[in-house]
Amino acid sequence: MKNLYALVCFAFLSFLQGFSQKGEVANGKWTESQIDAFIEKSELIPIQITGDKDNRINIVIVNQWTSRNEEPYNSPDMRGEFVKDIEESLVAALTYGDERAQTAYSHYKDFFNVYGLWMPDTPEWKKGIDLEAMDAIRDRLFLPWANEHRGWVTFLIMPNRENGGGGAARNLEKRVGNAVIAGNGIGKMLHEISHTCMSIGDEYTTAATGTSAFPTYSADLEYERDKIKWRKWIEPTTPLPTPYEAEYLDKIGAFEGNQYHLVDYYRSTAQGCIMGAGVFDNTEEMCPVCNQRVSMRVYDLVDIIKSSAPENKSIEINGSKKIRFAVDHIVPEPNTQVVRWFLNGKMIATGVDELEVEFGDIAEYELICSITDETPNIRPDPPFAQFPKVEVKWNVSNTAPTSQASPLLVNSGTVQGNKKSCLFTLVPGISGGMPPYIYQWSTGSTADTLKDVGVGIYDVVVTDSQYRTQKTRFSIYESGLGNTKSSKKSKKSKKNNSIIVVDADIKAAEVDRDNGSVVLSFSGGQPPYSVQWLNAEYEYGNNLIYEPGNADIQLPDFEIKKLFSASDNSYLDCKGGEGFVSWDVEVANSGFYPIDVVYGGIDMKGSDALISINGKTEDKTIHFNQTRPLYTGWDVATLKVYLKEGVNKVAIISNGQSIPNIDYLRVPSSVRSKSKVQRERINLAPGEHGYVVTDSNENTVQGTVTVPEVYPFEIGKIELENKDGAVAVVDPLSGYTYKWYSKDATGKKGETYESPLAIGTSFVPSAVGNYYVAAQNILSRAESRNRVGFAVGNLAEKRPIAIDPSELGYESIKMWFDASDIDGNGKEDNFVTPRGPVPNWKDRSTRRNSNELFMKYEPNQLSGKGVAAFDHVWVSFMQKEVKDYQTIIMVYKESSMSFPGTSLFRGANGLLGKSKNPVKSIFDKDNIDPKTKNGKVYLNGKQIDPFNTPNPMDFSILIVQLESKSDSGLSRTEGLWEGSIAEMIFIDRELQEWERKGVEEYLRRKWFSTVDVEF
Ligand SMILES: [Zn+2]
Repeated sequence: MKNLYALVCFAFLSFLQGFSQKGEVANGKWTESQIDAFIEKSELIPIQITGDKDNRINIVIVNQWTSRNEEPYNSPDMRGEFVKDIEESLVAALTYGDERAQTAYSHYKDFFNVYGLWMPDTPEWKKGIDLEAMDAIRDRLFLPWANEHRGWVTFLIMPNRENGGGGAARNLEKRVGNAVIAGNGIGKMLHEISHTCMSIGDEYTTAATGTSAFPTYSADLEYERDKIKWRKWIEPTTPLPTPYEAEYLDKIGAFEGNQYHLVDYYRSTAQGCIMGAGVFDNTEEMCPVCNQRVSMRVYDLVDIIKSSAPENKSIEINGSKKIRFAVDHIVPEPNTQVVRWFLNGKMIATGVDELEVEFGDIAEYELICSITDETPNIRPDPPFAQFPKVEVKWNVSNTAPTSQASPLLVNSGTVQGNKKSCLFTLVPGISGGMPPYIYQWSTGSTADTLKDVGVGIYDVVVTDSQYRTQKTRFSIYESGLGNTKSSKKSKKSKKNNSIIVVDADIKAAEVDRDNGSVVLSFSGGQPPYSVQWLNAEYEYGNNLIYEPGNADIQLPDFEIKKLFSASDNSYLDCKGGEGFVSWDVEVANSGFYPIDVVYGGIDMKGSDALISINGKTEDKTIHFNQTRPLYTGWDVATLKVYLKEGVNKVAIISNGQSIPNIDYLRVPSSVRSKSKVQRERINLAPGEHGYVVTDSNENTVQGTVTVPEVYPFEIGKIELENKDGAVAVVDPLSGYTYKWYSKDATGKKGETYESPLAIGTSFVPSAVGNYYVAAQNILSRAESRNRVGFAVGNLAEKRPIAIDPSELGYESIKMWFDASDIDGNGKEDNFVTPRGPVPNWKDRSTRRNSNELFMKYEPNQLSGKGVAAFDHVWVSFMQKEVKDYQTIIMVYKESSMSFPGTSLFRGANGLLGKSKNPVKSIFDKDNIDPKTKNGKVYLNGKQIDPFNTPNPMDFSILIVQLESKSDSGLSRTEGLWEGSIAEMIFIDRELQEWERKGVEEYLRRKWFSTVDVEF
C-alpha cells in the first residue's frame, strides 16, 4: 500500500506545490448553462449538517471515476456505497470517540458540514470533467459568502479506490479549496483537507529546489530555541536542530527538511504528522503543531455564537432593573471552552451560559460574555499561538442612576520607595465611588498596592462595588531615582599583593554578525577564580502592547479589519500604501530596546521597512518574511533601537509598499543590564566588554576586552603532515595561528561555545577520526568562517598497496557513485558544492548510460570531503537498470531511521538490507538472500559474520561479495533508507584477495586518513 501511494503521490506533486488552481482543461471551459444543467442532474446530499453553510467549514465529497476503477462511482446504484464511504471516512474522522477519530478535527465536528455531491452521470475524470469545471460548480453552489472571514468550502474529489495519492489547492481570499484524492483513507483525506481550509503545508521534502521558503504555522526557518514558533512544545533537553535519529522519534523539536526543502527549513516532528513529516504515509495522525493550527483556525472560519439574548446590544433602562442574559454557542467535544462574564471589566460569573444582572446604581454599564477555548491542543505564545476568544457585548445605559456616591477618581497617588534598592510600592490615589474597590494591575496582580516593583510603566484599573471603573498609569522613571548609580560602587577590593593575571583568547565578530567570543584564563592569585562580566545581558520589564487603534496612521486607503486571531480582534491592513504608522512608546529608562512588530498577511516576497525613532531614521531596516495571505498566521519582526526615557515616537515607514498587515507593536517598558558569571562568552557584539575576576581570597582585578569587528574570510585547502607524531600544517601562513576542533563550524546560528582541542600550527590527536582546523589572524583576531576537515588514521593499519578501483577495469564496474566526484568525470571535483540537494549525482563508471541519483550533499563530513545523505530524500529513478553485479563495495553510514530490511536501492534490499537490531547485527539472517549468506562480508578490511557483528552506525568500508552474480536489478532507490554514502562500487565479479585489500586501502586513505599517526 505504501509503495503504491508513494508512486501516485509523485504524479500529483507539481500540482500540489504551486497551490495552483489550474487543472488540465479537458473539453475547454464549461459555459454557465452547462454548469446549471449539470447541477440540475446532480444531488447535493447533506450527510452531516451542523449549521448554515455561510458559517461552517463545508467539505463536499464529489464522486468521480476512471476506467481503471474496479467499481466506479458512475451509476445510480452506487449512491449507497458512495454515502457509506463518506460516513466511514470523513464523518468517522470528525466523530469524537470513534476509533477512527482524528485529533484535532474530531473536537470540532460542529464547525463542519459534510456533503456528498452525487453526480452519477459525470463523465470520466479528466475526459469531459476536470478541476476547472468542479471549481465552477463549487463556486455556483457556495459563493458568495454572507460575511467576511466566515465560511469555507472544499470540494474533495474521490474515486472509488483504496490507495493513491492526492493533491490540493486553495484560495484563501475566496475561502475555497479543491482536492483530489485517489481513495478514501482518512489520513490522506485529512492531509488534503488540511491543505485547504487549514492552509497547512506539506512537511515532506522533494527534489524541488526552486520554491521559496517562508515561515508558516508548521514550517520555520529558525531553529534557535527562543525564536522557533512552536518553542512552547519543545522540551529543554531536546537539541536544536534536532537530530533525525530514532531517539527523537516521539519528540517535538526542529527537524531539518520541510515543505519540499531538504535543508535550512524545519518541521516539528521526525515522522509524526500526516502532512508528510520525514517519511510519507508513516502515520495517521497530525503533529501537535498542526493540531494547534486546526484548533485556532476553526474559530476564524466559524462564528461560534448561534444566538444571544437580549438580541438588542444597546439597552436603555430607567433606574433599577434586573435583566436576563444568555448566549448559545457552538462547543467543541470535549468542551474546553471557558465562559466568563464581565461587568465593567470585573468578572461576575464563570462557567454559565446565562445569568441575571441587576443594574441601577450608575449611568453606564458594559457587560461582556467572553468565551475562550482553552484546549490542551494550544499552548499560548502570542502571536504564534493563543486561545481563541469570542466576545458578546451589551451596553446598558441608565437614565436614572440610583447611587448617591460621587464619581470615582483614581490617580497615580503615591510611590513609596527605597531608592537604594530600586524597589517601590505603588499606591493608587482613590476618591469617590463606593468601596470596597478591586484592582487589576498590568502585571496581573489584584492587590490594592503593587509592591516591590522596579523602574517601569504600570497600569491599574480600579473598580468600585457599584461597577464604576477608572484607569491610571504609574511611570517610574529611572531619572526620578536620583543618584543611585554611585551607591553600587562601594565594593572594596582588598589590597593583597597577590596579583591575578588575566589572559584573554579573543575571536573577532564578523560585520553584522555579533559572533565574537572571549575565553579568559588566569594565573596568580588563589584559584578557583570567578568571573563576572559587567553589562553582559539585558533584562527587560513587562511588554506594553501598542495596537493600530492607538497609532497615527499616515497611509492612503488603510483599513482596520476584524479577525479573531488578531490580538484584540483587529489589525491594520495597509493595502500596500506608502506612508508610515507611528506610536508614542513610553519607556522607564534610556537604553536599547527590541521593537517587535507583529505582522502577517502580505502576499509579497518579504520586504524591509524603515524605522524612525523621534524623527531620526535608523540605519538598519526591519525585515518582514515572505508570508502567504493573512491566514498563514502572525509573525514577529524585531529591531533593536535606542529609546530615551519617557515617550518616544516610533514610526514604521514604508520603503516601497513594504508594510504588511500589522497586528500590534510590542515594546518592553524598561531595561536593566545584568552581569553574568562565566569564563567563556559567545555571540558577542564588537566593542568593549568589562569584567571583574575574583579569586578565592577575594582579591579582585578589573579589566576590559575589546572584540574587534572584521570582515569574514575563508580558508582553502590546508596541507597537513605527520610531524614527529603530531598533525602539523605544512608551510603555515605567517601572521596566523590555527585552531583545531572536533566539529565543523556551526554555520549561521552559533549557539554553543566550543573550545578548540588545541591552538597552534600542530596538534596531537588522541584517537583516529575526523577533525577540523580553522585559521586565525593573530593581529585582527579574525577567525576563518570555515574549518577544513581532515581524518586521522592509525599508521598501524596502513597497507603498502592501494588500488584505485578503475584499475580493476571499467568493463567490470557496473556502477560507481563517488560523492567526491559528483559530475562523474573520474576526477575529484574542483568545484564547490553547497550543502543541499544535488539532482544529478553521476555514475562515474558508465559514461554511456549516464545513470544519476538525487541526493542531499553534506560537505566536509569525511576527511574534509562531502557525502551523499539520503535521510528524507525521496525516490530517485535510474535511467538504466544495473544488473549482474557480484561484489558490492560501500563507504557508508547506516541510520537509526532507516526502515529495517532496506538499503539504498530497492533491488539490493534482499542482499544488504538493514537489520532489525543493528546493535546485534548488520543484516538479519532470516530475510537475507542466500547469495549474501553464502558469500563473504568484510567490514573495515576484516572478514566478519554479518549476522553476529554490530553495525558500527558510523562511516565504514563494507564489502559484500555475493556467492554469484545478482539477478536483482537496481532501477530505483528505496526512499525508506536514510543512511549516507561516500562511495559505492558494484563489480560484476569476485575480487582476488590482493585486489580487495588494495581497494580497501585506497578507500581508507581517501575517506579515513588524511594523515596517519602512531597511537
Ligand atoms: Zn504537522
